Amino acid sequence: MPLLVMKFGGTSVANLERIRNAAEKVRTEVARGYDVIVIVSAMSGKTNELVGWVNETSPLYDAREYDAVVSSGENVTAGLMALTLQEMDVPARSWQGWQVPIQTTSAHGAARFVDIPRANLDAKFAEGFKVAVIAGFQGVSAEGRITTLGRGGSDTTAVAFAAAFDAERCDIYTDVDGIYTTDPRITSKARKLEKISFEEMLELASLGAKVLQTRSVELAMRYKVRLRVLSSFDETDETSGTLVCDEDEIMESKVVSGVAYSREEAKLTLVTVEDRPGIAAAIFGPLSEAGVNVDMIVQNISENAQGHEKPVTDMTFSCPVDQVGRARKALEAARDAGQISYEALEVDTDAAKVSVVGIGMRSHAGVAARMFRALAEEGVNIKVIATSEIKISVLIDRKYMELAVQSLHDAFELDKAG
Ligand code: ASP
Ligand code: MG
Repeated sequence: MPLLVMKFGGTSVANLERIRNAAEKVRTEVARGYDVIVIVSAMSGKTNELVGWVNETSPLYDAREYDAVVSSGENVTAGLMALTLQEMDVPARSWQGWQVPIQTTSAHGAARFVDIPRANLDAKFAEGFKVAVIAGFQGVSAEGRITTLGRGGSDTTAVAFAAAFDAERCDIYTDVDGIYTTDPRITSKARKLEKISFEEMLELASLGAKVLQTRSVELAMRYKVRLRVLSSFDETDETSGTLVCDEDEIMESKVVSGVAYSREEAKLTLVTVEDRPGIAAAIFGPLSEAGVNVDMIVQNISENAQGHEKPVTDMTFSCPVDQVGRARKALEAARDAGQISYEALEVDTDAAKVSVVGIGMRSHAGVAARMFRALAEEGVNIKVIATSEIKISVLIDRKYMELAVQSLHDAFELDKAG
C-alpha cells in the first residue's frame, strides 16, 4: 500500500467542525488507496494555555512535568480525530507518542528523535486499519518519561514519520495555501510558488516565514521527504499548495525565489576594540553563552582609530531586538572581567533585515548589484550586508522595510512565474 503522512496544525483542528473537515480530507486519500498516518497538533491556543498554567503553578518548573502537561493538548485531538474517522466508517485508532513508541532524547522541552520503530503501526495496517492518528510534538525518553520537541514540533513529527515509513509525501495542512514569494500582507503581488527547494525553504523559514518549523525542513532535506504545504480550509487536490522538494525536481528556477524579512532587529557596535588575534572569540563567546543569536557580523576600521597606541577596530553585529539587554549584559561582564575593552557600545534598535533567497544565485552573477541598485533607487540606506551561497541580507531602517520588500519583489520580477 502506498502511504501518505497528513499533518494538521492547530487552526485546522481548532474545533469539532474543523476536525471533521480535516477527517474528510483523510477519508478522500484513503478512498484513493492510501494508508495514512495522520499527525495532529493541539487545538489552536491550547498549548499556550497549558504553558501558561505550568508557569503560573511553578515558575522554576520541573521540565519533566512541563512536558507531561504541555503534551496533553495533542492527545485530545488525536483521540477526537480517530473517533471522527470511525464515525465516517474509516478504520482508525489514535497513538500517543509512548505507544508507538516514539523514542527521543531526554532533553525535556527540546527533545530529539532517537528512533521510531515501525512494528506496532505496521501490524495495525496489516490488520486492516487504514489510518494511524499520532499525537504530534511528543515522545518518550529512555527513562520512560514523556518528552516534547519544542514549539511547532508537530511538523517535525510529521516529517520523521514520513521518513520512517517511506511515505510518498508528507502533506502539511495549515491556514495558508502555500509558500509565497514574500509575505502577501506586504505586497499584493506576492505569488504562490508551485515548488521550492529544501535549501531555499530553510533560508526562508529561519528568516521568519513561519509556516514550517525549521527543524522539520532540515529533517526533510536529510531524508529527502517531499513536503507539501497546503490549506485545510480550501478544496484541495494533488496539485494544491507548494511542494518543498529536492532541487533536482525543480525545472524552472529563477535566480531569486523569494524575499524574506525580519522586522525586529537591532544593530550593535562595539567602538574601538583591540585589533588582535582572539578578539572576535572574546566578544562572541560570551554572547553565545548568554544565548544571543548573533546574525550578521562586520569588523570595520574604527573612525576613532587615530590616537591609539595599539591597533583598534569597530565590531558591528545584529541580533533580535528582544536580546539586546542580554547582549549588553554579556559584553559588560566580559569588559569588567578584563577579557575585552571598548570605548562605547552603540545600540540601534530600529533596524529590520531584508533578504533575497534563491538557489539560482550559485550560477548567476550580479544579484547583489541588482539588489543594491533597487534599494538605492528608493533611497534606502544599507547598514550591514551579509551573504551566503544562496542568500543576500541587508540590515536597514525598520521604517523602510515594507518599501524594501516591495521594491526587491519588483526588481527580481517575482510576480511573474518562471
Ligand atoms: N502544539 C505545539 C505548539 O503549539 C506543537 C505544534 O503544534 O506543532 O507548539
Ligand atoms: Mg506550526
